[in-house]
Amino acid sequence: MGSEAVPSESRTTRYKCLACFRQYKKKEHLVEHMRVSYHSVHQPKCGVCQKQFKSFQSLREHLTGNLPKKNCLKIFSEQGCNYCLKIFKNADSLSEHKEMCQLPVPVTIEKIRMPSTESQIDFSDSINRDHTSRGLEAIAIDCEKVGGGSDGSLDLCARVCLIDEDENIIFHTYVQPQIPVTNYRYELTGITEAHLRDAMPLKEVREKVMEVLRNGESIGRLRLDGGKGRLLVGHDLRHDLDCLRMHYPDHLLRYDIQSGMHDPYEDCVSVMRLYKRMQSQDHSDEGIGTAIVNHHTQSFGSGFDSWKLRELKNMTPDELYKLSRPNYRCWCLDSRQALQAESNDLWAQ
Ligand SMILES: [Zn+2]
Ligand SMILES: [Zn+2]
Ligand SMILES: [Zn+2]
Ligand SMILES: [Zn+2]
Repeated sequence: MGSEAVPSESRTTRYKCLACFRQYKKKEHLVEHMRVSYHSVHQPKCGVCQKQFKSFQSLREHLTGNLPKKNCLKIFSEQGCNYCLKIFKNADSLSEHKEMCQLPVPVTIEKIRMPSTESQIDFSDSINRDHTSRGLEAIAIDCEKVGGGSDGSLDLCARVCLIDEDENIIFHTYVQPQIPVTNYRYELTGITEAHLRDAMPLKEVREKVMEVLRNGESIGRLRLDGGKGRLLVGHDLRHDLDCLRMHYPDHLLRYDIQSGMHDPYEDCVSVMRLYKRMQSQDHSDEGIGTAIVNHHTQSFGSGFDSWKLRELKNMTPDELYKLSRPNYRCWCLDSRQALQAESNDLWAQ
């Protein structure tokens, strides 16, 4: 981190957090702040002032919100990308970047194929291609749900879509409801009785989805370290897995909490793009050391636990920052792990 701690001799000594720039009069307050903040290089960071934020939303506020920092706003408005919030050297490199960062709106699923009730699974090249050189491959899923029960509030899986990282549809089908549908939620789902009449039974759907995700890997290995199994990405994964009555190992799930747009292909595409953008983030190793090598043994937020308060109080803000660990597993590690796995096979041990 570039910023310096406040001079330690001065009478008005303040202890400054190197990540979020908060200042404290007492060292133990800074220690306590560091203990609960989980600062790390994986936090979103302002490309101008280098301040770190809890979320992209708060970074966006900092750059463009109601009370933006003047200098940051000025530079961001000239050299910053509105999509990923990165700052570029000049207007040229910014516009070059924007062409890649600003992706076209995906077409809806009806416009691509299958207006019929036919299900399909596509095990062509895209799915069998060898992705090991890039690490774990991701699959995005989206389920549309219709309503069951007397008031139509029970979610029943009625349509499933899976896409690969290149936005190809790997699997799509309508799903036979397990109990009578009392509300098709047509305005949201576009699904009618006719769509579901001869649709695929849930059990079969689940098996197909699992087949795609497992990618030939054993269940044991999936649970252990994933093997050649696929990461599952979704806007609303918990509910999607619930309505499929399906389990998939937690460490292979990547999800965000945006509400979908109710076109299964569009939803898959938007979450896959988000995932790839986050996965390609370039977070320097600074302050993390080699702790990221093995995500199975990496414990989050435990950096301070083995130190006594007295020892922590004697550390500089810089040393405290170096001890700090994130309390989540950043998606950038998905691609790094791949690099690690390639260069040495140690991480899987
Ligand atoms: Zn802080
Ligand atoms: Zn990261
Ligand atoms: Zn800033
Ligand atoms: Zn961008």
